Amino acid sequence: MRVLKFGGTSVGQPGRMRQVAELITRNNEPKIVVLSALSGTTNTLESICGSLADNKKEEALQVITDLRSRYTSFIDELLSNEDSKNKAIEIIDEHFEFLNIILKISFNEALKKDILAQGELLSTKIFSIYLEQQGIEAKLLSALDFMCINESDEPDLGSISDKLKKVLESNQDNHLFITQGYICRNHRGEIDNLKRGGSDYSASLIGAAIEAEEVQIWTDIDGMHNNDPRIVDTTVPISELSFDEAAELAYFGAKILHPASIWPTQKHGIPVRLLNTMEPEAKGTLISKSTISNDIKAVAAKDGITAIKVKSSRMLLAYGFLTTIFEVFERFKTPIDMITTSEVAVSLTIDDKTHVLKIVEELESIGQVEVDGNQSIICIVGNFVAEKKGIVNNIFEVLKNIPIRMISYGGSRHNISLLVDSYYKEDALKALNKHLFKL
Ligand code: ASP
Ligand code: MG
Repeated sequence: MRVLKFGGTSVGQPGRMRQVAELITRNNEPKIVVLSALSGTTNTLESICGSLADNKKEEALQVITDLRSRYTSFIDELLSNEDSKNKAIEIIDEHFEFLNIILKISFNEALKKDILAQGELLSTKIFSIYLEQQGIEAKLLSALDFMCINESDEPDLGSISDKLKKVLESNQDNHLFITQGYICRNHRGEIDNLKRGGSDYSASLIGAAIEAEEVQIWTDIDGMHNNDPRIVDTTVPISELSFDEAAELAYFGAKILHPASIWPTQKHGIPVRLLNTMEPEAKGTLISKSTISNDIKAVAAKDGITAIKVKSSRMLLAYGFLTTIFEVFERFKTPIDMITTSEVAVSLTIDDKTHVLKIVEELESIGQVEVDGNQSIICIVGNFVAEKKGIVNNIFEVLKNIPIRMISYGGSRHNISLLVDSYYKEDALKALNKHLFKL
């Protein structure tokens, strides 16, 4: 069994959706196809929730009405058969009826989850009607029957696996399954989700749950690139990556894959292929257990980073100092990304600024605090075996004209991170591209 996930842009236009149908029927291998909502839908649903939270019902109604007309024209263009059109209209009526009803009741967080789930429910139902019209036999599975998260909002892989296997067992005659990405049930049995961009995570969890042969993530670019294509002109797709390298890149800005989606497939050693709907023959990127070379594979950057330095002579020869600092971040549920220490000071970075003022206030009782906003982490990813000489030297030679605020090397074999003022990010990425990849 293979798991194929198609993102919002791959199903966002009728023509694209037809192409997805073609791609999944190129062979008869058994498949589970995971779909996102049509592009832009989840953002629109979020904005409806925003209006409802502010009690702006008129505004919400307007957005709901506009969204509905997008879906009506979508199915009109997608479907040719009257019968299929009527079925699709019924589906649209049902889901938009729900959205109209919520205008009349008081808004809350649980309701928000229900609203956000409408996108994937609509895309998969519409796609199934299209497949049926084309005479393609497929079974629509509700992700709400097997995808679940526990009390800590973490997916419960064991339980997902048990439930999904049962569902598949009772549908043994089928070889093509369609299901929703992103949505799930929480431990109270209510509709919930795997957070924004979570359809990749769904695909990876499904792959792990059934120990699939392969998980394919289909998007609109040809794999993970060796640098940020928005900044550097001459980037190339990376043909192979290890799970660890892919995880570093996914976290550091490569928007193509949700960072959480690495662990389930990694745990079971299931290869993940990143492929391009627009160019289905392109090789894309293969993420697997094996790494082919001990070299630098890619460079990525993450903006919006804040660096915090805590200096205290009390740190000299004392133990427990780092714990005291970390506890402050833990109290505010703020993850630390990079960290470097000297004998009397610690510098660390965060990308969630929500509680920065309160964090700084508490840190000031420990030592002198300095905060630098507007920083970028430049992350160089590859397989850096300790015996290989000259890698760091090479990188610093390339960046000799760029002021570097922090350096982190040796945390893992796969990442060298540098912190620079965001002003220098472009120059740094371009210089690294030119010298490391000769592009
Ligand atoms: N539709 C959801 C979102 O836009 C999930 C996804 O597309 O991955 O975040
Ligand atoms: Mg995505």
